[in-house]
Amino acid sequence: MAKRDYYEVLGVSKNATDDELKKAYRKLAKKYHPDANPDNKKEAEAKFKEVNEAYENLSDPQKRKMYDTFGHDGPQGGFGGAGGAGGPFGGQGGYYSYSSSGFDGFGDFGDLGDIFSSIFGGGRSTRQKNGPIKGADIEVGLDITFEEAFLGVEKEITISRNDTCDTCHGTGAKPGTSVTKCSVCNGTGQVRQVQNTILGQMQTTRTCNNCHGTGEVIKEPCETCRGKGKVRKQPKIKVKIPAGIGDRQTVVLRGEGEPGEKGGMRGDLYITLRIKRHRIYSRDRNNVLCEIPVTITQATLGADLKIPMVDGTTEVYRIPEGTQTGTKFTIRGKGFRSVNTSAQGDFIFTVIVQTPKKLTQEQRILLNQLAKTMNEQPPVKKKGLFF
Ligand SMILES: [Zn+2]
Ligand SMILES: [Zn+2]
Repeated sequence: MAKRDYYEVLGVSKNATDDELKKAYRKLAKKYHPDANPDNKKEAEAKFKEVNEAYENLSDPQKRKMYDTFGHDGPQGGFGGAGGAGGPFGGQGGYYSYSSSGFDGFGDFGDLGDIFSSIFGGGRSTRQKNGPIKGADIEVGLDITFEEAFLGVEKEITISRNDTCDTCHGTGAKPGTSVTKCSVCNGTGQVRQVQNTILGQMQTTRTCNNCHGTGEVIKEPCETCRGKGKVRKQPKIKVKIPAGIGDRQTVVLRGEGEPGEKGGMRGDLYITLRIKRHRIYSRDRNNVLCEIPVTITQATLGADLKIPMVDGTTEVYRIPEGTQTGTKFTIRGKGFRSVNTSAQGDFIFTVIVQTPKKLTQEQRILLNQLAKTMNEQPPVKKKGLFF
């Protein structure tokens, strides 16, 4: 039977916060606890297990990230396919994937991203015996503004990774010298050993110590890379961030990680976005929220308000006579674009009526005149009467 999606199991969205996860988990764990379901113990137990497994995986940020990227199969499912199968734009997770070849010709990038976390690595490389080894992935963080997340942006970031040494072109040998076949193992990388044991002679094979299994020996190592063939570089990488991306979502650049070994492909570059708080706007799913201050006369008489949109334009919105403070108005289709679908959120503003703190003499007189026309005191209740 196919495994259910962990988010579905917990009944939360993909963007659920740790708190939301915990709440959902507690509720369901209580509901399905076998002790609480004496009539239906077997089924409850299965559900209980499912809920536990989902929470265990989603509550651990590392595991959650892995799950978001690779689903139930885990990275063993094959890296090459992960980007496609997981559906970068298929609506399955928070990852957006680009191939490195897709970034040609973006022009000039002046704005250098603000990297808040540096490089990890090693964690995700798949290792097969003697076969090609995929390079380690690199993870970086990138701060972007609210507007950049709204409109989408192209950024250039500087990362640190190993690349082919330009001096020796990756051979590890000093220019003008050559790489020679290892004389100890005769280029095979393996040496046979015959040992005398109490059971008789045993033949074992081990990796050659002289060439460390490569079958080649560098007589004069390249001075730039000390014979490794690779050097640490700080390349600038262009990254396209799609409009509508959410806080802590990750863009994946396939093949921009550490180089592979033995013909393995490069690892990937994971860029996790952090969206800076905005002075006036906030975000709820794909909706933009904001508060608009209005005067008592605007609220009372109605007014055409000029509402500043996130993209820098202005929308005129007519609020009706007698608008109360805290009333919400919606401008449809002016929120965040969904990265996965063609849907677009709304712009929702809350009217906040500002009671004037300072009045001119004229305003005071006018307000006093107004006050006289209004019933200023709450009606006094008279005991024993029904009206
Ligand atoms: Zn070199
Ligand atoms: Zn050797």
